[in-house]
Amino acid sequence: MNGFATPGTGQSVVVVGGGVVGLTCADELVRAGHDVTVCDPSPGGGATYAAAGMLAPGGEAWFGEEALLRLGQESLARWPSFAASLSARSSVDVELRAGGAMLVAGDRDDLEEVRRTCRLLDGAGVRVDELGRRELRISEPRLSTRMVGGALLPDDMHVNPRVVVEALLAVLGDRVVHRRAVPRPDGVALEDGTRLRADVVVLASGATGLPRVRPVRGEIVRVRTTDAPACVLRARLHGERVYVVPRRDGELVIGATEEEHVTKETAPMPTVGGVARLLETARALLPSLETAHILEITARDRPGSPDNGPLIGDVPSDGPARHLLAGGHYRSGVLLAPVTAAAICAYVAGREAPSTVDAFLPDRFDLLYRDEDLCT
Ligand SMILES: Cc1cc2nc3c(=O)[nH]c(=O)nc-3n(C[C@H](O)[C@H](O)[C@H](O)COP(=O)(O)OP(=O)(O)OC[C@H]3O[C@@H](n4cnc5c(N)ncnc54)[C@H](O)[C@@H]3O)c2cc1C
Repeated sequence: MNGFATPGTGQSVVVVGGGVVGLTCADELVRAGHDVTVCDPSPGGGATYAAAGMLAPGGEAWFGEEALLRLGQESLARWPSFAASLSARSSVDVELRAGGAMLVAGDRDDLEEVRRTCRLLDGAGVRVDELGRRELRISEPRLSTRMVGGALLPDDMHVNPRVVVEALLAVLGDRVVHRRAVPRPDGVALEDGTRLRADVVVLASGATGLPRVRPVRGEIVRVRTTDAPACVLRARLHGERVYVVPRRDGELVIGATEEEHVTKETAPMPTVGGVARLLETARALLPSLETAHILEITARDRPGSPDNGPLIGDVPSDGPARHLLAGGHYRSGVLLAPVTAAAICAYVAGREAPSTVDAFLPDRFDLLYRDEDLCT
C-alpha cells in the first residue's frame, strides 16, 4: 500500500495510453464505478500490436526474477475470468487458448538451458514435464527430427492481443479519446490544447516518456500455414531463440527479435537481418514452414525497465491530481494486464493491492524526471 487516504469510488480518472495495459486498467476502473477517459491517438497501435499474446510466466522466467514469476502466475490465474467477462460484455471472442507451451532445444547446450529453466520452475512450484527426443516428436510430430529434447509447460496459455484491444475498445466506447495527452498537475492537456481535469492520471504510454522505461525493439512475422503446431513452441536452436504461436485459421506468429533502442526516431521498422534470423530459425524448427505464406512483418518497442519488472503505483505529482504509473511491462504486458489493472484499481480506491505487486512499486528506483517529459 502507498499510504493514501481512502478516496472511494466515483473519481475522475484519465488514462494516458490505450495499449493493453491502459485499456485493461480503464475497463477495471469503469467497472469499479469511476468516471474514466482514455487518451491515445492510436489505441492498440503500440507494443500491443506486435505482441504474440503468450501468457507464459514460466516461459519467461529466469533466476533472480522469482517475484516477477509470482506476479505472472497471479495474472495468468486472472486471465480466464477476465477473458470470459470481456468476451461476454463485448461479444468479441478474445481467443484465449489453454494447451500449454513446449520448450524445445536444438543441441546439447540448448537442452542444458531448458533443464535449468525446468529446475527453476520446479522449485517455484510451476508444473513442468521434461521431454526426451522421442517424447518431443510424439507430442509435436511437425518438429524437425534434429531437435534433441525439451519440456512441456502445461499451464501456459495464449490470447490474441489485437482482439483483446478490439473487445476493450468495444466496452469502453466513447470513453476513448483519440488524442495524445500529457500529464499536468491537475489532470492532462490534450494535443489540441483542451485540458481535462482529473483526480487521478494513470500513465500507461508504453515505451515512450515514462520514468526509467526504455524502448526494446522486437520484430515478429505473421504467416499462414496448412500445418500449424497444436501449441506454443518456444525454442532455442544453437543459441538462437524463436517462438511460434498458433492463432485461428492456420495463422502463426513467429517472434521475436530483441534490440535496445535509445534514440527517439521514427516509427519502428523491421530489419532484413532480424527477420531473416527469425525465419531461418523458425524453418529449422518446423520444416513445413517452407511453404507458409507471409502475411505481415511488424516491429514495435517493448517498454523495458532496469530490472525487467513493471512499475505499478504512485509517482510524485506537482499538483492535486494523483499520478499512478502502469508501465515497464517489457516482454509480458499482455500477461500482466489483469493483475496491473487490479492493482491500479485498488490504489485508486485506497485499498490493498495484490501482494505480488508490492515488489513492483515505482519507488524501488530513483525516479528523477521532469513532468514536462512524461508521455512525450
Ligand atoms: C514483438 C513483441 C512480442 C511480444 N510478445 C508478448 C507476449 O507474447 N506476451 C506478453 O505478455 N507480452 C508480449 N510483448 C510485450 C507487450 O506487448 C508489452 O509489454 C505491452 O504491449 C505493453 O503494453 P502497454 O499498454 O504498456 O504499451 P503499448 O502497447 O505500447 O501501448 C502504449 C500506448 O500509449 C500510447 N501513447 C504513447 N504516448 C502517448 C501520449 N502522450 N498520449 C496518449 N497516448 C500515448 C501509444 O499510442 C500506445 O497505444 C511483446 C512485445 C513485442 C514488441
